[in-house]
Amino acid sequence: MKIERIETILMSYRYSQSEAWKWSGGATLQRNCVLVRITTDTGLTGLGEVGESAYLPRSIEKIVQERFEPMLVGEDPMDIEKIWQKLYIQSCHYARKGVVSTIMSGVDIALYDIVGKYLKVPVSTLLGGQYRKKIRAYASGGMYKDEEDLFSEAASYVDSGYFGFKMRIGAQDPMPEVEMIRRLHARIGNRIQLLVDAGQCYTNFPWSYTTALKVCKALEDCNLFWMEEPLHPDDVEGFVRLSRATTVPIVAGENEFTRYGFAPLISRRGVSMVQPDVTRSGGISECKKIASYASVHHMDCAPHIFGSGVGFMANLHFIVSTPNAIVVEHDQTLNPLRESPLLCSIEYKDGYIHMPEGLVGLGVELSEDVIRAYPYIDEDAVRKPDFIPLW
Ligand SMILES: [Mg+2]
Repeated sequence: MKIERIETILMSYRYSQSEAWKWSGGATLQRNCVLVRITTDTGLTGLGEVGESAYLPRSIEKIVQERFEPMLVGEDPMDIEKIWQKLYIQSCHYARKGVVSTIMSGVDIALYDIVGKYLKVPVSTLLGGQYRKKIRAYASGGMYKDEEDLFSEAASYVDSGYFGFKMRIGAQDPMPEVEMIRRLHARIGNRIQLLVDAGQCYTNFPWSYTTALKVCKALEDCNLFWMEEPLHPDDVEGFVRLSRATTVPIVAGENEFTRYGFAPLISRRGVSMVQPDVTRSGGISECKKIASYASVHHMDCAPHIFGSGVGFMANLHFIVSTPNAIVVEHDQTLNPLRESPLLCSIEYKDGYIHMPEGLVGLGVELSEDVIRAYPYIDEDAVRKPDFIPLW
């Protein structure tokens, strides 16, 4: 079997004014997804998701066409490790992290989809089989809104059985947000665990180590499941110091890439859990290596998931086959692209996402109707606020 071509498929869903939401990174006005479809000379195709859809879809399309298609055409899609090494080595001078890692991720996922379809098995079987059939889910929402609306949102997840509720913070002054979390915990904390995402890669007001420590200390009695990205990903030393200085579990990883990027965070215990994402960190094969390295340190993974149904399913195959991947992120924001490419809808019940049975490959099938229904819109998906230096 030989790879004949690779296409990039872009899709969008533009929010109405009332559907758009705000968070520390700006205003999200549109959801995109960036998919790659690899076609082989047998007619078999594979789909993968590139986990950078907010800012660079057109650039990714160009990079895939100019650099990735020539590296892939003629390769046997069964040779996943060889292809990963080829892409990594031949792009090293201009890549290693960031957007090229997200493209490599999409390619790697699409290759697993092809191999699964060829062998007529689910991707999870290729990864060692299903360690579990269902996985505990937390509700990922909590964008900026009135406090009462946020409290009602949290209460709705209690009613539907989620063990945790993730909310976003990252304002210029974090202390009012800390007080709000304390009030939320007092109101509902005995019925659901709070996960707080400080998103320091996105906010205009990145925390210093001192701020991160102050925030964590003020939340130590709130039984947080975790504090996510309280520092910039380059501040590994800060993560190490912070993890030692607070009882709040610190996590990060959605803005880290490949096993080489994750290694110091894990081995130096900068975090309590790592958050690789098969659409960003280097693909399914790379996430298995990251999880394996974490397991050497008796550390769990809590994969980051915030894309379309293709990325969701790819992450789910990774999670169900990986003993130390212990929770699944269930994005609650409006995104029709999360369900539309799926053969069967995401099954959430009583606190768990269930792995569908009888899948072949990833278990996704993108019809031309769906592509036509969500044409790509060349507009900013996220509007960034003005940058105002703090000092
Ligand atoms: Mg996050």
